[in-house]
Amino acid sequence: MKRTTCLAVLLLLASYCFGAPKNIILMIGDGMGFEEVRAASIYSAGKVGALSFESFPSKGEARTYSADSSVTDSAAAGTAIATGKKVNNGVISIAIPGYGDDLKTLLEYFKEKGKSTGLVTTSYLTDATPAAFGAHAENRNDLGVIEEWYVDRTQPDVLLGGGKGMDKSAAVSAGYTVIDDVAGLESLDTGKTGKVAGIFGSGTLPYESDGMGIMPHLSDLAATAINILSRDPDGFFVMIEGGLIDKGAHDHNLKRNIGETLEFSKTVEAACSWAKKHPGTLVIVTADHETGGLKVTKNNGKGKYPEVTWSASGHTGVNVPVYAYGEKAELFKGTLDNTAFYNLLTTAR
Ligand SMILES: [Zn+2]
Repeated sequence: MKRTTCLAVLLLLASYCFGAPKNIILMIGDGMGFEEVRAASIYSAGKVGALSFESFPSKGEARTYSADSSVTDSAAAGTAIATGKKVNNGVISIAIPGYGDDLKTLLEYFKEKGKSTGLVTTSYLTDATPAAFGAHAENRNDLGVIEEWYVDRTQPDVLLGGGKGMDKSAAVSAGYTVIDDVAGLESLDTGKTGKVAGIFGSGTLPYESDGMGIMPHLSDLAATAINILSRDPDGFFVMIEGGLIDKGAHDHNLKRNIGETLEFSKTVEAACSWAKKHPGTLVIVTADHETGGLKVTKNNGKGKYPEVTWSASGHTGVNVPVYAYGEKAELFKGTLDNTAFYNLLTTAR
């Protein structure tokens, strides 16, 4: 081999081994603060530090304030993570304050790079967190606008979540295979299928602790999404949200809150084992904000709910955890702003 050819091959190998992550799995526990993690770990193992992502090599925390409040909502926090820009509470990936232009999201960025994209949530698909990645709306309650963005514009290859605000016939017209229960999910040929919209029920998915009935678990949804998206030789970007951790905390319902955090942890564990087998994959786990002002006051042992106090009826402004595993995981440590994810993910080389 000529020296120049040899050099070219080496450079190619180096860019493959040390380049930007090929696959990005961004996992958001909505409302999952440090104390939510602690409560779920104590319940499941009788000790702290037992959840799957707590043993990730890179750990840090993220500030969450929005453009107009020290306490963010999921729209502004989702927008900060998805676009790298702070906006007012309630705004979905539009520059408000600012000129009101659409802010490019991670999903749009990676789609332009040729990657497959997906949005997965236990909340409804048009809820604020997935919307911040796949839509632009002045108000998070404009579910019709958000739904139109998904089916007409951003068209993620995989949409899996609760059905509120989604129109099955519009998804079919846009070329999606539509499924609506766990049997439909299991019947998919993930090695062949085109775009898939799992539109489950007419609200959110059920809470784990209430029983899932004919509805799939978050871990089922995530596995299906990764199987479909990973067929793309250019790689993929997927946002997977434990969307009901927050809703359990709003109601100060510890059983529901912990049940959702544990299913989220199980989902992260599966994503991480997939990443181990597929070098070039980055798994990031974080939250958009904490909910409820939860504080664990007593460990009652494995399988028993810890004693806790709740100090807020809604969200709080405390920093949230960040964990990363895999390609370029080392970038996600220390104290970050929630706007840092976009820049780190779009500039990683
Ligand atoms: Zn909330």
